[in-house]
Amino acid sequence: MRLVLLGPPGSGKGTQAARLKEKLQVPHISTGDLLRAEVAAGSPLGLQAKEVMARGDLVSDEILLGMLESRLGREDCAKGFILDGYPRNLAQADALDGLLAKIGQPLDAVVQLDVPTDLLVERLAGRAKAEGRADDNPESVRKRLQVYDDSTAPVIGFYEKRGVLAHVDGVGSLDEVLARILAALGH
Ligand code: ADP
Repeated sequence: MRLVLLGPPGSGKGTQAARLKEKLQVPHISTGDLLRAEVAAGSPLGLQAKEVMARGDLVSDEILLGMLESRLGREDCAKGFILDGYPRNLAQADALDGLLAKIGQPLDAVVQLDVPTDLLVERLAGRAKAEGRADDNPESVRKRLQVYDDSTAPVIGFYEKRGVLAHVDGVGSLDEVLARILAALGH
């Protein structure tokens, strides 16, 4: 199963991807996690990404594509993957198409987690307290939601036109949302 999970910050993509990974037996690839690992390691790429991420902007498409290409080339992706946090704009959606065509691994499904904005803000505020992520301060949260509306939301239409997109209601318990995603995937 080659799956893309779409949804705004705080929609629960990461949480659900971690659970789906067990069910589907494929790796969970979170571009946010990959970038945070680079930042933590203090690599040149991490040093470049750190400030951009902290203020809630998008890291460059070029960096993301290189990172993703090397991750998807690893052996554990041969049987599929769950992509979380990518694509985040139309250029990335195009780039992903090209990359997957090149490696002969077209997408099977794209799931959009729908959650109303007031609930997103509430969840992100809760996560700020619990996890202390550098980009969960109110200013960065506002910026990330804005970037989502401006750059990422158009990606929904990109996959809708292709007939591969399923909308899933992301409001409910973790188990309820997981069951809805699995149902949308025909599991
Ligand atoms: P969330 O979606 O909850 O805001 P993520 O962990 O997915 O958090 O991403 C955190 C940050 O990492 C983003 O705000 C952005 O700066 C960077 N990032 C992650 N994925 C991408 C991407 N595909 N393109 C550009 N930047 C990205």
